[in-house]
Amino acid sequence: MIFNEHFIEISYFIATALFILSLKWLSSPTTARRGVWAGEIGMALAILGTLLYRGIVDYKLVAAGLVLGTILGVPLGRVAMTAVPQRTALSHAFGALCVTLVGTSEFYLRAPDIPPFMMAVLSMEVILGSLTFTGSLMAAGKLQEVLPQRPITYKGQNFVNLALLALSVGIAVILVLRPNQVGLFPALIFIPLVFGVMLIIPIGGADMPTVISLLNSYAGLSAAAMGFVLNSKLLIIAGALDGSSGFILSVIMSKAMNRSFTNVLFGGFGQLQAAAGGEQESRPVKSATAEEAAAILSAASLVAIVPGYGMAVAQAQHKVRELYDALTKRGIDVRFGIHPVAGRMPGHMNVLLAEADIPYDRLLEMDVINGDFPQTDVALVIGANDVTNPAARNETGSPIYGMPILDVDRAHTVMVIKRSMAAGFAGIDNPLYYLDKTLMLFGDAKGFVGNIVRELSGGHD
Ligand code: NAP
Repeated sequence: MIFNEHFIEISYFIATALFILSLKWLSSPTTARRGVWAGEIGMALAILGTLLYRGIVDYKLVAAGLVLGTILGVPLGRVAMTAVPQRTALSHAFGALCVTLVGTSEFYLRAPDIPPFMMAVLSMEVILGSLTFTGSLMAAGKLQEVLPQRPITYKGQNFVNLALLALSVGIAVILVLRPNQVGLFPALIFIPLVFGVMLIIPIGGADMPTVISLLNSYAGLSAAAMGFVLNSKLLIIAGALDGSSGFILSVIMSKAMNRSFTNVLFGGFGQLQAAAGGEQESRPVKSATAEEAAAILSAASLVAIVPGYGMAVAQAQHKVRELYDALTKRGIDVRFGIHPVAGRMPGHMNVLLAEADIPYDRLLEMDVINGDFPQTDVALVIGANDVTNPAARNETGSPIYGMPILDVDRAHTVMVIKRSMAAGFAGIDNPLYYLDKTLMLFGDAKGFVGNIVRELSGGHD
């Protein structure tokens, strides 16, 4: 038994260290794989330690849970890269549901003799868990387009939402002072469940990735609160790590979009998009063929490739790798400009380009590559739109005004691969396309890049 307890303590200690190292390693592409392994081994150790806990009454139920979790988890791990944000939202929903159920059972096991501090953390656990559960389900539904993506707003919405939150906190305070008011507890679950739905309704589908990382933060905080309730240091640390990293990520994403948190949460951004998207310009643009694009590229000495959401949708990363090979073989210096919010999730472009084995040292962050554009012969934009829109620099009325962008318009020639003149995420026109130096290469990213590669290699693959 003593051996068991030591083993549990040691496995929790190692798991905690691995979680911290995992986060550290995940922050750089060169060590990210190691970070994933560290996180997975840490989690396996944490589960193993918990399974040895002598408080477990019935292993049959635990085994059933493990089997059920595996049956649900394996297909969830196999979704397409572009569906990762909604998959992540579902994981948060499950985690939050679990936290709420644990909190509920702990309340009924302990009530009415619950000390004030314990009741306060229990309330926080249940409030955050419940609102994260429905909020994450709503976010996943919007991203998967099973729910309408557009924000639904009405007068007094923020007031109603704040009132719901205040009501939950009020009930929590009553329960802290009088834990024998057991009948109030269901309201502590039900009101935040409604609040989770109401919180997400006014947020446009396109802002969901930021919201999901915020919900991640709530899920982490509720797990940390659960750690206090269950007296588990491992849960407190893991929850705090989850809570703070989710929060930091949301801040980074909001900054990269030049949006404040309040604007993301209460701004009804998608509505603005719809209005602005209506006014498409009909000015002429210059277009070119794959053959012409290949000729221009082969005459260049410095090429900057700027990928975006369209490259992800078309799954063009392997063709982009072939293009990179064909150009570097000709002695052309090829760099990639990575915008922090290109695509639909943080690190989206890095992951895709790494999958295609493009060397990490060719991937330059926005601040680094922006200084290179005036010397760049060709900026080749592949399925990116908003992150290259010069309106963000000079049109004060633009919804993306102030968002830092990749300054592709400062290159000698700009070529843009996209299928049409349609707008991107922000739903606005891009003045870049009407510049004299810009050539539009209309077509699917994968197909068009493939055609350029074929032209570069003399007409055969
Ligand atoms: P974007 O502005 O959404 O533009 C993507 C472009 O790709 C579209 O204009 C589309 O034009 C084109 N496209 C779509 N499918 C294509 C295909 N199969 N082949 C070729 N082109 C295709 O994307 P972005 O420049 O990457 O900017 C990302 C946006 O998402 C930013 O506004 C950012 O704020 C927002 N956002 C990002 C994150 C994140 O974490 N990364 C989170 C939240 C929001 P066509 O339809 O004409 O082809």
